[in-house]
Amino acid sequence: METLHDIAKEVHDCRKCPLFKDATHGVPGDGNEKADVFFIGEGPGAEEDKQGKPFVGAAGKFLNEMLESVAWKREDVFIGNIVKHRPPNNRDPEPEEIIACLPYLERQLAVIKPTLIVTLGRHAMHQFLPADFRISQEHGKVFRRHGRLYVPLYHPAAALYHGGLRQTLIEDFQKLPKILKKAKSIGHEENK
Ligand code: SF4
Repeated sequence: METLHDIAKEVHDCRKCPLFKDATHGVPGDGNEKADVFFIGEGPGAEEDKQGKPFVGAAGKFLNEMLESVAWKREDVFIGNIVKHRPPNNRDPEPEEIIACLPYLERQLAVIKPTLIVTLGRHAMHQFLPADFRISQEHGKVFRRHGRLYVPLYHPAAALYHGGLRQTLIEDFQKLPKILKKAKSIGHEENK
């Protein structure tokens, strides 16, 4: 059975879309192979590209603070992105780039089998939840689709740049442990 390490190695060598050309490092994602919670952002930014790790810039610092606020450790969750190489100048990834890269994310999800998937920002949300969903309406709610449980949240970077969203994101984040606890107890009952 493949491991996260196998997938990361492939990402580092990947040439399946043009994004690798301007990137310094591939950013496969980081965290626990047995994580209950899988956070998914859109793509690496400048600092992530430099270090080869997800969410290590200002948005990552904010994400760390929110994890600490609910007594979760970064090493207990998994943090990844829709695309694994940085789009130049932080532009949105093109649909073909997303299509090329998504199998890596799906393989990571298949290895980890998280109880809860938390999408960060509207782009990540739209990969898994209906196209007519609006993040302003659906943030912080729980959705079950194709046997998976999702909670879409605002992206930490958006909350940094639009101060009004900061408190909303913090409040949504506080709901996650309770959502996870409930999901795990339901899963436990279903598996009996
Ligand atoms: S962004 Fe994804 S598909 Fe494109 S080169 Fe990087 S790993 Fe491969």
